[in-house]
Amino acid sequence: MSRVAVIGAGVAGLTAGYDLARAGWEVDVLERWPGLGGQAATLDVGHGLLLERYYHHLFTSDRDMAALCSELGVEIGWHPSSVAFFADGASHPFTTPLDLLRFRPLSIRSRVRMGLAVVNLQRRHREVGPFENRTAHDWIVSAMGAEAWERVWGPLLRGKFGDRAEDISMAWLWSKLTLRRQIKGAEARGEVLGYPSGTFEPLFGRLSEEVEARGGRVLIDRPAASLARRGDAGFVVTAAASGSFRRGHDPRAFEPEGEESYDAVLATVPNRVFEALLEPSLARDLADGYLARLRSIEYHAALCL
Ligand SMILES: Cc1cc2nc3c(=O)[nH]c(=O)nc-3n(C[C@H](O)[C@H](O)[C@H](O)COP(=O)(O)OP(=O)(O)OC[C@H]3O[C@@H](n4cnc5c(N)ncnc54)[C@H](O)[C@@H]3O)c2cc1C
Repeated sequence: MSRVAVIGAGVAGLTAGYDLARAGWEVDVLERWPGLGGQAATLDVGHGLLLERYYHHLFTSDRDMAALCSELGVEIGWHPSSVAFFADGASHPFTTPLDLLRFRPLSIRSRVRMGLAVVNLQRRHREVGPFENRTAHDWIVSAMGAEAWERVWGPLLRGKFGDRAEDISMAWLWSKLTLRRQIKGAEARGEVLGYPSGTFEPLFGRLSEEVEARGGRVLIDRPAASLARRGDAGFVVTAAASGSFRRGHDPRAFEPEGEESYDAVLATVPNRVFEALLEPSLARDLADGYLARLRSIEYHAALCL
């Protein structure tokens, strides 16, 4: 049986581990943190009560996640969205077409224009291609008007993307406005958001059980410290001692503890961590420009208060 190491037990690593185990691989998932779930992990706030470290929901368009939950017997509750927009010292509900029409921080003309632009986008632009080389800022100003950018979209995009707000591709906004929710059918009156019952932890637990039921291992508090080639084929993963997470994110600061051989390795860690894991000769073997492409991807911090 071929062996694979999956580095990282976030949703990507656990789902990949599950798929690989079902495809007949012997899977080891290595995770730095003493828990599952990565960015969607939880905290035990006492008496077994779990609270998400950040905040996550599913959209109705997240069909693959919904199908995975149903396959593993994890229940999702769908609840009306309570998203609101804070402007001019007040909170304005912002989930339905009617909310938009009542949104006083914008002139009536801009409200109508914004609604029509979204409907037009959903009905007439089913392909992302035409938006690949256009910024969201450019599209918003021309389709919805400058006021819509200044009062609504500018603050939203600056909140999410900081000083790169005006560089964000329209392809991203197209996907949000067309795939996330259709202003027709069951969701016409208001968006609904999905929350797995009892946080995402039950899903991570089920994925982990499925890997282990097929002879795999899901090793938490067991980070990868480095990654090297094994002779002509395969890889050697050096794991690190438990408690290494206290030394931060850079695997070069971890205490190495034991090597294992694998036929393949799948890394789901942030790019900077991936690069720090590579032994110099393996880094040299990567395709020309591959590391440069990884380095060119900017990461932005999200502060959750
Ligand atoms: C505040 C916030 C809100 C979000 N809201 C939503 C939402 O509502 N809906 C949505 O779909 N998405 C949302 N996201 C995005 C979503 O959380 C991520 O896309 C998803 O969790 C990424 O999963 P991943 O497995 O790719 O990466 P991660 O979750 O980052 O997993 C990577 C894992 O690798 C581990 N790791 C790091 N170094 C090592 C090492 N050396 N050895 C072993 N393991 C290592 C990490 O500890 C981590 O567990 C949100 C993100 C944030 C931050």
